[in-house]
Amino acid sequence: MSQKIYLNGQLVPEAEAVVSVFDHGLLYGDGVFEGIRVYNRRVFMLPEHVERLYESARAIRLEIPISQEEMTEAVEKTVAANNIEDGYVRLVITRGAGSLGLDIRRTSNPQVIIIAATISLYDPELYEKGLKIITASTIRNHPCAVSPRIKSLNYLNNILAKIEGTDQGAPEALMLNHKGDVAECTGDNIFVIKQGIIRTPPKDAGILEGITRNVVIKLAREAGYAVEEVTLQRHDIYVADECFLTGTAAEVIPCVSLDGRVIGDGTPGPISRQLLKAFQDFARGR
Ligand code: PMP
Repeated sequence: MSQKIYLNGQLVPEAEAVVSVFDHGLLYGDGVFEGIRVYNRRVFMLPEHVERLYESARAIRLEIPISQEEMTEAVEKTVAANNIEDGYVRLVITRGAGSLGLDIRRTSNPQVIIIAATISLYDPELYEKGLKIITASTIRNHPCAVSPRIKSLNYLNNILAKIEGTDQGAPEALMLNHKGDVAECTGDNIFVIKQGIIRTPPKDAGILEGITRNVVIKLAREAGYAVEEVTLQRHDIYVADECFLTGTAAEVIPCVSLDGRVIGDGTPGPISRQLLKAFQDFARGR
């Protein structure tokens, strides 16, 4: 059975889910998106993802043609129509088709696309062994350029950093900000733990404010840990007791080395493992 894609109010077969070659989403990366997990048929943190999508759209002066309530219903409907039990939803809003040129007034029909699919995850073995990552030379977007807080269709900056990681055999790569401080990884936020205190870069470090990040902060505090949103340098990661990454696909994944510096004892630490379990229990409604 072919997949059903939501396109501008209709559920259509995959082959009919097409957008114009003149869409500014394609021509200029002009648009926004979200990636959301489905666990046991429940769309995880849907209100938070919809909120972030509309905030991203607002920041780029893109008016989404349906309300947040309609978007929420459309996501639920698409997940049900594809009979997704555990999977992933990709929500994409493009600026729409228009003549060539950057002027947004040339476009008139933003495209609303919802794809409900399966998800490719990190190898389960990596949760046992931990990730070995590197620092990319490509820095995160300067906040005065395309703000990292916008989940825009233009991910080229992160793709360039990801290439550096892949070339060096690393499944993720750390990105610094324009000041040289730690921002985040190409598709995941980063946390360190030192003497029981959990730290992660603040929103203004040039990060996407991850929904997983915020859930993990809340769960960690509920478990009695101090969590600080503070400026971090690479040195703080090199000398941390533990390190882990968070993201919709990754959930919570331990990280055991950065740039060849072994973090802690080189194995996933106890607090990282505790938070992975707490997150999985929460996400799966246990
Ligand atoms: N940072 C970036 C750059 C990302 O693309 C993502 C994944 N959307 C994240 C962090 C993690 O965010 P979330 O937990 O909302 O998936």
